[in-house]
Amino acid sequence: MEDWELIIIGAGAAGLTAGIYAVRSGLKALILEEKIAGGTAADAPIIENYPGFERISGLELMQKIVAQCRRLGAEIREFEKVTSLNLKGEDKIVETVRASYRAKAVIIASGTSYAELGVPGEKEFRGRGVSYCGICDGPLFKGKRVLVVGGGNSAVATALYLTDLASEVKVVHRRDAFRAEEARVRALLEKPNVEVFWNSELKEIKL
Ligand SMILES: Cc1cc2nc3c(=O)[nH]c(=O)nc-3n(C[C@H](O)[C@H](O)[C@H](O)COP(=O)(O)OP(=O)(O)OC[C@H]3O[C@@H](n4cnc5c(N)ncnc54)[C@H](O)[C@@H]3O)c2cc1C
Repeated sequence: MEDWELIIIGAGAAGLTAGIYAVRSGLKALILEEKIAGGTAADAPIIENYPGFERISGLELMQKIVAQCRRLGAEIREFEKVTSLNLKGEDKIVETVRASYRAKAVIIASGTSYAELGVPGEKEFRGRGVSYCGICDGPLFKGKRVLVVGGGNSAVATALYLTDLASEVKVVHRRDAFRAEEARVRALLEKPNVEVFWNSELKEIKL
């Protein structure tokens, strides 16, 4: 069993940042990643909100961060999914598809997953018109026609934010009323460039 001072699970933006801080603090740190290091941000075609880079592809930005993390001394092991953890004792035990590790501390930076609609075309156009973060990606759709799916607070806040950027905002909601803060709903419905499709469901995304 290999011994490490710190094991970080996930080599996305959070895990890699933790890795940089750990090795700069003098810790022997191992980052375990089930896929290729870089995380979900590597899927972003363009990132415009990372200070220091006016416009950079997500892949390039994440490759830079991975390289920086390695250069500073963190060990990053890819295609090594963590399958079980025992965090009870002073020594933490981390099992992966390949090996067992012992560490003084474990940081879990395994990210989150977006609520997918599961409709045809969604995966195909992810990052190429299909976005799960209107606030992050809204500026990329400036002057364009956008469609927001949902009717809760996130959907209404996103649609409202997009009304100042997009030429037209259509909202598709499967019920006949929003389930969001009333003030936000009112503000959205007052916008001249908004149209809501009530009792409707998105079936497919295609060109
Ligand atoms: C298309 C798209 C565009 C985006 N654009 C922007 C943008 O422009 N600006 C912005 O700020 N944000 C953007 N985001 C959001 C950004 O990608 C996330 O906020 C960020 O990736 C979160 O980083 P994280 O490290 O927490 O998680 P993640 O990036 O999800 O990383 C978690 C990592 O953990 C790994 N992992 C999970 N479970 C295990 C396991 N059991 N064993 C080993 N490894 C595991 C995963 O494979 C993954 O690599 C975008 C996201 C997408 C999908």
